[in-house]
Amino acid sequence: MSALHTTCPYCGVGCGLTVTEGVLKADNEHPANFGRLCSKGAALKDTLGEADRLLTPQIDGRATGWDEALDLVAARFAATIAEHGPDSVAFYVSGQFLTEDYYVANKLMKGFIGAANIDTNSRLCMASSVAGHVRAFGEDVVPGCYEDLEETDLAILIGSNMAWCHPVLYQRLMAAREKRDTKLVVIDPRRTATCEAADLHLPLAAGSDVLLFNGLLVHLAQSGALDQDYIARHVCGFDETLLAAQQAAPCLAAVAAGTGLSPQALLRFYELFAQTERVMTLYSQGVNQSLSGTDKVNAIINGHLATGRLGRAGMGPFSLTGQPNAMGGREVGGLANQLAAHMGFAENDVDRVRRFWKAPAIATRPGLKAVELFEAVAAGKIKAIWIAATNPADSMPRAAAVRAALEACPFVVVSDAWPTDTTRLADVVLPAAAWSEKDGTVTNSERRISRQRAFRTAPGEARPDWWMFAEVAKRLGWGEAFAYPNPAAIFREHAALSAFENDGARVFDIGALAAGDDGAYDATAPLQWPCAKRGVSAGPRLFARGGFSTADGRARMVPVGGEAQSLAAPNTLRLNTGRLRDQWHTMTRTGRVPQLMSHSEGPSVTLHPLDAAARGLTEGGLARLLSAAGSTILPVQISDQQRPGDVFVPMHWTDQFSSSGAIDSLVHDKTDPISGQPDLKGSTVTVEAVSPLWSGLLVTSAPATPHLGEAVYWSKAPLNTGFAFTLVGWTPLTSIIASEDALRRLLQISLEAELVSYSDPKRSVFRYAGLVEGRLTASLFLAPTGTNLPMRELAAGLLGQQLDPIQRLSLLAALTPAGGPQQEKTVCACFAVGADRITAAIQQNNLKTVAEIGATLRAGTNCGSCIPELKKLLRDAVRNGQALAV
Ligand code: SF4
Repeated sequence: MSALHTTCPYCGVGCGLTVTEGVLKADNEHPANFGRLCSKGAALKDTLGEADRLLTPQIDGRATGWDEALDLVAARFAATIAEHGPDSVAFYVSGQFLTEDYYVANKLMKGFIGAANIDTNSRLCMASSVAGHVRAFGEDVVPGCYEDLEETDLAILIGSNMAWCHPVLYQRLMAAREKRDTKLVVIDPRRTATCEAADLHLPLAAGSDVLLFNGLLVHLAQSGALDQDYIARHVCGFDETLLAAQQAAPCLAAVAAGTGLSPQALLRFYELFAQTERVMTLYSQGVNQSLSGTDKVNAIINGHLATGRLGRAGMGPFSLTGQPNAMGGREVGGLANQLAAHMGFAENDVDRVRRFWKAPAIATRPGLKAVELFEAVAAGKIKAIWIAATNPADSMPRAAAVRAALEACPFVVVSDAWPTDTTRLADVVLPAAAWSEKDGTVTNSERRISRQRAFRTAPGEARPDWWMFAEVAKRLGWGEAFAYPNPAAIFREHAALSAFENDGARVFDIGALAAGDDGAYDATAPLQWPCAKRGVSAGPRLFARGGFSTADGRARMVPVGGEAQSLAAPNTLRLNTGRLRDQWHTMTRTGRVPQLMSHSEGPSVTLHPLDAAARGLTEGGLARLLSAAGSTILPVQISDQQRPGDVFVPMHWTDQFSSSGAIDSLVHDKTDPISGQPDLKGSTVTVEAVSPLWSGLLVTSAPATPHLGEAVYWSKAPLNTGFAFTLVGWTPLTSIIASEDALRRLLQISLEAELVSYSDPKRSVFRYAGLVEGRLTASLFLAPTGTNLPMRELAAGLLGQQLDPIQRLSLLAALTPAGGPQQEKTVCACFAVGADRITAAIQQNNLKTVAEIGATLRAGTNCGSCIPELKKLLRDAVRNGQALAV
């Protein structure tokens, strides 16, 4: 049976998958991954279940049919537009959209409703790269390709924990490094997993990136490393840019003072760059999510333009996109400040798209960017909003204010595949088809368009997003313009628009794909744009010989002198938010997979030991974080890999998974003035200790979160047999164990169920089990913080089992052996191997390499996502006295 080829729906690497008789595997032929997958991709099979899916349209929580729901959406949008004008409505969409979904939603809003109030969650991760590309190249174009990772001699990673966030590309880089000894420089305030392989780690002060790269430009000029010929032929703005750099970074000492790096480390970095022809600078959210993100991008690009190092093998600036189709969204114009197909709001662009779409009411000016858009909702200016495939109630800055705005908004539509904290706020919920049920295309970080092919039938009434937007467009009276029979027809129109009156002025031209039939679309193999004419490839790299999308064909170097930063008040710490290895966004999919939850079971705040000591914080204790926007309480992790003055909190947890809720509730809503991208890594917080009194473990087969009161931290993780809740309280246990009724509510058992208990009030140890018809449905263990609790797998292993009377009585005691084994941190999620087992194996067997660990425990032999952590454990063993280094 031949395999179906599709793509992973998580990150912008865009790995290929094959599906054969329902079995998912890495695609050996896909040019993004050549047979590799990371831990998230490898666990995709576990996200295909229908549990918790949204299956029918709902109006005010009432299940209904598509016609009633779509009629209502169209009627309310029409009435709002009629009364308040087109700018009173908005769409907020997603980098999870396929290009075809994006195209239809964008055409509806900008072409026919006549406002440009469609923005996307890609604003939160990519907008500064887009703005930087447009300023430098005249168009949002990534000049290089993934093969460059295998051809480069110096890879500079800045603001990117590539080992965790773009793992398959990191594996490609590491494999190439073995062959050609590629040097690796990592620039990041944190010492992340990516740094494990680095030749040089520069833990610069957060926000000092522009200064660092201005210093680089000055050094390149002083050391004769400039490519004067390339500058003369293909670049404008060199003199002004160098002058600005010299003023900002007059000497190494000034750069050292501003970045917090040693002059020696700086010089080593600058010399490596100057002396290496094949140099790539790869960057991600640490650059983009900043008040000066666009300037940072241009500071990076300046160095490459000045040395002519772009568009040739192994060199160039390279933006690592966050989401699977962030790039596709940019191609169709999914950002509010773009129109369509890499055209903006210049008069001739608007006229061209107007004629192509036959859309007389087309928007003529940019719309509201994400933060502005939700501010307009809060201000009552946006009165009807449709949110699709994204969860702004958790992911937007000042998330609590966004929730309040949506609660007050007269009409909120949310389309999604699973319930989220945003669907809870919707007047109308529309059930969306998930990635495995949808047909379309995505574009990855290297401009490669790949087909995503459906291999499952959507459950219930779920439908693709493009269909929903087209149906509403028809009900609004624009049926002819939205009469798409399938995604192939949408894609052909998108491709035709990219080529429409495109005489080469726009690099984004996929006109070759406009003419095929449905069969050709279905058979499309992964390919890179531009592809203006069938069979004619522009090659994987651009701009080696100029040809930029500016009026004179030259690139622009951009003077970037200053660096905007939020000022930290005394005693505050800078809040850095970001991704973890095995989670994706707000965990709507990955949070349901036990294997992926085992690497990090709950949220946390990580601080440097000095910052922790100054606040009386201890490892595993609790800390209250307070900002101008909100507060939360989180478990503490202490690590010298964190820069003093900074704290790190993962971005993933929501109200559905933890009492800590969304960390973005604490994040301020300041944005880069050019790109509008929020400064998600630059808020300031105060941090203080909260003294826990007791800890607990609740293991239950019930998925609902029990009510635990205000003075209890909890986090929820799925198990193969149920759910585990980690509990920590800071007021006496009395309220939890006050009455049998309260306990039954906590255990989620009825009055008919048996409640078995064990109490030792002197030691404040309490244990309970709930049984229904003799089967264990929940168990609860409470003890003073610092006392051993049972391993959750032991408790989970008994869930659903029939227990005889003696087992019931001995159950709770037997599960808590004095000094017994404690939960260990999972390192290899694929084979469930924890850090303690790996360390023990290293010591007992004198293991020296990752391969030897793999041969002994299998850890690291599947997806490879844990290899940086295995290397760290090997190094730790050496530091702790093991004889042989690795
Ligand atoms: Fe998916 Fe992992 Fe590949 Fe990203 S690196 S596309 S998450 S398999």
